Amino acid sequence: MIIDGKAIADSIEQEISSKIAGEVFHRRPGLAVVLIGELAPSHAYVKMKKKGCDRVGINSYIYQFDENISEHDLLSTIQDLNGDEKIDGILVQLPLPDHILPHKIFASIDPGKDIDGFNPVNMGKILLGMSDGFCPCTPLGIKLLFEKLSIDLTGKNVTILGRSNIVGKPLAALLMQNSPGLNATVTLAHSKTKDLQAVCHRADVLVAAIGIPQFITREYIKQGAVVIDVGINRVDDPDAKTGYRLVGDVDFHSVFEKCSLITPVPKGVGPMTIASLLLNTWTSFRRRI
Ligand code: NDP
Repeated sequence: MIIDGKAIADSIEQEISSKIAGEVFHRRPGLAVVLIGELAPSHAYVKMKKKGCDRVGINSYIYQFDENISEHDLLSTIQDLNGDEKIDGILVQLPLPDHILPHKIFASIDPGKDIDGFNPVNMGKILLGMSDGFCPCTPLGIKLLFEKLSIDLTGKNVTILGRSNIVGKPLAALLMQNSPGLNATVTLAHSKTKDLQAVCHRADVLVAAIGIPQFITREYIKQGAVVIDVGINRVDDPDAKTGYRLVGDVDFHSVFEKCSLITPVPKGVGPMTIASLLLNTWTSFRRRI
């Protein structure tokens, strides 16, 4: 069965929208998005995030800078946003130009406004199982997918492919927590993992987040496994209006018959990431007003 991430995300957005419209607040929630440079995918992601904010009633403020912005100027923008009362969430769109150290930027964001969950304080809270921080949006979106589909991970073998700070590592920390519905036995695989196919084949739930188009084929999948495809890759397609189409890290047609559930690309994990961003911004707003 195909998991309709878009429909689940829509229902979460609907809940947020009703909450924002359902009470009288002296202001709307506010999300600041810092966008640096001209990379087309970054601009596309920011546009999607802005549209998401518009749908649910969150004010979004885009701060756009040339790719030559100095680290000092970026840090000073973030300091201003940290102190800005109308801003509940601060998001710095990745990737950053090479001369700017992402860790320094994330550490400068007020942890209470760090709705992307990349500040070390929030990363630490995920590891400790503390619920008063913010979880990065893609891992949170995947956890919400499991919740909404009533998939209990207790004792399940979950293999996560990819150990990035924004997907793999926080997702592993989240799913292994001693908490109802979680309690997974997590394997975190990466480019140095030996016998990757066998490691993946043991998985009851396989999460692919490596950024290689259609890398995972049926040989990697255990019969009846749940497959979560995080990858968003552009591949050339002369027939498409844009000249490209989006594919995941999983070869959908190869694995479809073998797995029990699978997220498509697009309309799988992507919309859940946006819904989680809106949810985190709403949570920050509620904590701050
Ligand atoms: P990164 O490039 O930061 O990390 C990729 C990870 O995959 C690394 O840990 C790397 O290992 C591992 N890897 C690369 N090649 C292999 C291989 N052949 N075998 C095993 N592991 C490998 O990627 P991100 O986490 O940022 O993104 C991953 C994908 O998810 C991308 O397609 C991205 O576009 C997508 N994405 C989608 C989101 C959504 O909302 N749906 C959100 C964020 C990302 P090593 O550490 O050893 O180098």
